[in-house]
Amino acid sequence: MFRYAWPAVMAALVISAPGVATGIVAAQDATYGIDIANMDLGVSPRQDFYRFANGGWLAKTEIPGDKSSYGTFTELYDITLEQLLTILDDVVTGERALEPNSDEAKAVRMWQQGIDLETRNALGLTPIEPVLAEIDAVADLPAYHQFQQNAMFRGLSGSLPLGVGPDLRDSGMNVVYLGGPWLGLPNRDYYLEDGNEAVQESYIATNAKLLERLGADPSAARSGAQSVYDLEKTLAATTLTREEEQNPELSYNPLTIAELVARYPAMPWLNYLDTLVISGTERVIATQIDYLDELGPILEQTPIETLRDYLRLQLLWNFNNNLDLELEETAFTFLQSLGGQPEMQPVEERALGQTSGLMGDALGKLYVAEHFPPQAKAEMETLVAGIIAAFGERLERNAWMTPETREKALAKLATLRVKVGYPDEWETYEDVEIGESYAESVISAANASLRESLAEAGLPVDREEWGMNAQTANAYYSPLNNEIVFPAAILQAPFFDYRADPASNYGAIGFIIGHEITHGFDLQGSRFDENGNLANWWTDEDRERFEALNQDLVAQYDAIEVLPDLFVNGQITVTENVADLGGVETAYDALQTVLAAQGDSRSLAEFTSEQRFFVAAATVWRGEIRDEALITRIRSGVHAPPEVRATQPLRNVDAFFDAFAIVEGDPMYLSPAERIRIW
Ligand SMILES: [Zn+2]
Repeated sequence: MFRYAWPAVMAALVISAPGVATGIVAAQDATYGIDIANMDLGVSPRQDFYRFANGGWLAKTEIPGDKSSYGTFTELYDITLEQLLTILDDVVTGERALEPNSDEAKAVRMWQQGIDLETRNALGLTPIEPVLAEIDAVADLPAYHQFQQNAMFRGLSGSLPLGVGPDLRDSGMNVVYLGGPWLGLPNRDYYLEDGNEAVQESYIATNAKLLERLGADPSAARSGAQSVYDLEKTLAATTLTREEEQNPELSYNPLTIAELVARYPAMPWLNYLDTLVISGTERVIATQIDYLDELGPILEQTPIETLRDYLRLQLLWNFNNNLDLELEETAFTFLQSLGGQPEMQPVEERALGQTSGLMGDALGKLYVAEHFPPQAKAEMETLVAGIIAAFGERLERNAWMTPETREKALAKLATLRVKVGYPDEWETYEDVEIGESYAESVISAANASLRESLAEAGLPVDREEWGMNAQTANAYYSPLNNEIVFPAAILQAPFFDYRADPASNYGAIGFIIGHEITHGFDLQGSRFDENGNLANWWTDEDRERFEALNQDLVAQYDAIEVLPDLFVNGQITVTENVADLGGVETAYDALQTVLAAQGDSRSLAEFTSEQRFFVAAATVWRGEIRDEALITRIRSGVHAPPEVRATQPLRNVDAFFDAFAIVEGDPMYLSPAERIRIW
């Protein structure tokens, strides 16, 4: 519910864990590695490799009513969810004892408050009434700015959100960032580009219902919602485009406090910094400099009632899943326009998602103790070492880099940090108080986390911290820490199984490991050096060649049509597509090294190891997706749709064509001249 004010440079593998899920868990297959029942051997791999690899699975899989898509990541999400719910149930029924007042016990109590809809419904909006009263009292712009000073502690990011994170140019130190506007739609394009009318209308209609809930009559609510929409649209126009956001330099605008005061005099900055207990800070890095310059005049032209509605709606959206069911249901009507799912997920999962977001390590501790054996960690570390070595060999062989830049790239690879499973030291939650209501507990946990983060301003970065929870089925690369991170939940079948043959593991989790390593060398990651600092280590000549290769890949993906007249955005997805390409190439090389050393086990006699490798790679991205969600993914995501990720990277790899005897004239064929090699 709360957004960081600092630029999002962390590259996750998929969009963050699905916010929607059911408790249905498919029975684990008895086979290990690739499963022929999930393939369709009636389809030629030369014609349609996606269906050849996944046809059996696609035929038997339907998207559950409360999900917008379903694929391997959702499968793992469901498995992990069921494991966590079982643990929670055991605590609630007394079968598992927790130390009273421990972090784990607090997390379970928060979850219990979340699923207690009776109490939540009886309380209605009362937990946020004091904040609504504060908003009612905002009579003019000075009062609006006064309110902003405490907004973050009230659960709103506000108009001038401050946050603490690593300095992009000195990544060992934490600095203060100033973020951009709160926007209810996923990004600026939703306000400014054609084709989003249905989502816009759904948003305005939902906001009107929310304002009615606060007592406005229907016509005043509708015009209030329209005015807030118009304000958000004006604010959105001042922010960086998605293409501009790919360049972290544009989000890095350091200002001294004196400059900040001169640039935006309406905010009493010294008081504001004091309220956040960061008055010692000497400079603030503005991530949206045009927004900062234009905000003052925009606010001056906006009626104060519209500004009050803007705050009220932020508050309701940020609390939409912590108050009563009526509010959740109203918010859901808008969320449906983005995902297309007909049903809400069960309350047990909604509350688990919220608790995991706020007290993730308390649940992570419980999860790992039960479901992550130490040998899985050890085996994964061996796999990662093999893939890093393979990436290094590819760098050594690289044909387009000068020796000078290559040395720097190898140095960056040599300092890459690897985190597997769960943090060595868990986050603690001593300041979290479980209150009288779910909403009170949620705000206590959010504020504890906010205060802790603010207190790190000016202090060294703790590089041992994790950016994802152990129970999250995802992975990431952080350029600031130059690290790849694999939470415990992703280290399960079908990604990773110690009983599976090497080809299956290298094709699945190996592909993912290679993907994360490559992020250190994508268009964005490559702007950061071996120490995690935004600094250029490239010669101009190499950078030019690298960018030209990226542009070739942009053009290749731009041409892919996923729905009539809806194409992949090659530029926005380029860092992920480069990572997919590097991932599959590197994992393939690492597999060859393993096969040379261990021999080929051929556990599935029908297919060679090379074939199993590519089938496993396509399995990673099998998935069904609703049209609404596919459109949302194209317009707001940085990843190409799963079906594209399953085959397009493979089509750039020579060994893929050899493995399946794909030749000119076959639909899967791509001529050697069209194949792109970057890493
Ligand atoms: Zn990625």
